Amino acid sequence: MNACPQTPSFRLDGRRALVTGASRGIGFACAAALSQAGAHVFMAARDKGQLAEGVSAVAGEGGSAQAIVLDVTDPANIADVVADLGPIDVLVNNAGVARHSPMVDTRVEDFDAVVDVNLRGAYFVSQAVARGMISRGEGGVILSISSQMGHVGGIDRAVYAATKHAIEGMTKSAAIEFGRYGIRVNTVCPTFIRTPLTEATFADTEKAEWIASKMKLGRVAELEDVMGAVVFLASDAAAMITGTSLLVDGGWTAG
Ligand code: NAP
Repeated sequence: MNACPQTPSFRLDGRRALVTGASRGIGFACAAALSQAGAHVFMAARDKGQLAEGVSAVAGEGGSAQAIVLDVTDPANIADVVADLGPIDVLVNNAGVARHSPMVDTRVEDFDAVVDVNLRGAYFVSQAVARGMISRGEGGVILSISSQMGHVGGIDRAVYAATKHAIEGMTKSAAIEFGRYGIRVNTVCPTFIRTPLTEATFADTEKAEWIASKMKLGRVAELEDVMGAVVFLASDAAAMITGTSLLVDGGWTAG
């Protein structure tokens, strides 16, 4: 009798993961997910107090996590912090902000703030982590929490969608550059989830109806809906997947 092919592991035991924007919302969920899959997680953000709460929640359920104060808009801070962490096997670029407005009303300072965190931040954190992965020579995984808005446009979202489309382009080019080092680069693209980032959107009846009308599964997404996608792409089960995106959008982009 032939032996069955074996499913590669979805576990991350022994891996070291860095998650940016891990103090709340989707980043906190990503950190919890990676920890529950066995990884040690460096949880990075600016607010020390919120990070400490997140770390103790992860530790409280037996996970291994550490708080890292990091501002992704500061490339010098990124280089120092990443150098101090030691080997990183998995990066999740999650830190993100939104300042929505009609394009005709967008202020330069809002444009710059969104680009600084969502694109420039993810770019230079990826660069710093990739340099370490390349010199270590053991491969790695770089994921970015992009968005369905990396694939379609949205109401009042010209700047936000521009940064998320840019992350998709960065991901494809990085996958080409880093493939030879065994580094896989992908995005996870969630639909709307209730977090501090989307509070104003869900509070706006018209926008809440817009969201509900797009959800083919008859409900709005929850943080848990993103967690499995992140663990899968970080794991050996996704060993042949690079340069692409996994949409967690409840069918939004299907039409
Ligand atoms: P959130 O609740 O507002 O959390 C944002 C996180 O980013 C916080 O931990 C925040 O911590 C951190 N952050 C912001 N600026 C930072 C900086 N300069 N340096 C380091 N960390 C920074 O947002 P979220 O909804 O969880 O969104 C997380 C990611 O998912 C974003 O990239 C967002 O675009 C994406 N996304 C969200 C949704 C959604 O519906 N919620 C849908 C699709 C994609 P500090 O303020 O302490 O730094």
